[in-house]
Amino acid sequence: MKLYEFEGKNLFAEEGIPTPHGFVAYSPEEVEKNAAAIGKPVVVKSQILQGGRGKAGGIKFADTSGEAKELSKALFGMKLRDYTVDKVLVEEKLDIAKEYYLSVTIDAEKGRPLIMASVAGGVDIEEVAKETPEKIVMETVDIFKGLLPYQARRISYKMGLTGKEALETAEVMLKAYSLFRKYDADLVEINPLVVTGEGSIVAADAKVNIYDNALYRQPKFIKTRDHYDSEIEYEASQVGLGYIKLDGYIGLCCAGAGLTMMTLDLVDHYGGKASNFLEFGGAQYRNAYNALDLVLRDPEVKVVLVNVFGLIARADVIAQGLAEAIKALQPKVPIVVSLRGTGEAEGHKTLKEELGLIAFWSAEEAVKEAIRLGGGK
Ligand code: GDP
Ligand code: MN
Repeated sequence: MKLYEFEGKNLFAEEGIPTPHGFVAYSPEEVEKNAAAIGKPVVVKSQILQGGRGKAGGIKFADTSGEAKELSKALFGMKLRDYTVDKVLVEEKLDIAKEYYLSVTIDAEKGRPLIMASVAGGVDIEEVAKETPEKIVMETVDIFKGLLPYQARRISYKMGLTGKEALETAEVMLKAYSLFRKYDADLVEINPLVVTGEGSIVAADAKVNIYDNALYRQPKFIKTRDHYDSEIEYEASQVGLGYIKLDGYIGLCCAGAGLTMMTLDLVDHYGGKASNFLEFGGAQYRNAYNALDLVLRDPEVKVVLVNVFGLIARADVIAQGLAEAIKALQPKVPIVVSLRGTGEAEGHKTLKEELGLIAFWSAEEAVKEAIRLGGGK
């Protein structure tokens, strides 16, 4: 679960990481009110679940509350990267002297938390990694000991910091690590961590992701509509399905995540384009109805490809669910099915008798047929 910048900054503030004084606003009028309450030059920042807002024009600076209101009119409703802006964060404008980078994430290979820090902050860390990798300090953390103060200070010194700045940066690192562990985050990123003209350290940005599989034990975080990239992904989640929108024309309904990945590869291999990732199946074969319903909503879909390899969740049971779903939904586009697994002969028979649908016995053949029917190569 990705958190918005303002949500991340609220966590920072609770943890004692310095953040700029600010408020969220949902309209230009609110921007004006908040800017007036701050009473200083402000920065108005689009709140979307993606970075790179600065470069894309999603961040504005204003000297007065009136100017903040006017500038924010361009932000509300703006298409910014993959989102439409509906809220902004109004904050006192920092007097930035230096921009550092700091993050806590997971080193998957070592299976340990990883601290990354750099004096080359403010820009994409991927760029720094490419251009000047020597400027990035990386240290993994022993999960049982946690990040110890001496290690945090060592990272500061390796970054090239000295004196009070080194100690305060180490302090932010310790708090960021503590937050990372407390909330089962898989990312806590501060880019930039700013040194102001007066020499204070402030987190000017916040990117916090909570590990989805830990949400059950993190009641503080509730995934609302706002935390999904689109309406359809949100609706899928409400019926227990994982749906990810892609930009092709073949609607995919596959039983199992691994089979879905394989089917995506096959579609790509034969020159087609899938319109989505969607996994259904398991014990609730009736999800075929919800799955098909979601896939058919995308107007780009010219054909639906169902790929089932049902073992414990039997193929014949899934076929029955599929037949009911197709009868109920009456799709206007062709449906191509590949069905294998336990009770496969019975499943094929069901589809044929109930729908007149001849299913394939091979995923490859089904994929090729779907591409043909969808008008692809
Ligand atoms: P991102 O582009 O989505 O990562 O958004 P950031 O919050 O990191 O802002 C991008 C850039 O805008 C920062 O690196 C700063 O250079 C600039 N910026 C953001 N907030 C302030 C501020 O309060 N004062 C000044 N002077 N610059 C800011
Ligand atoms: Mn940033």
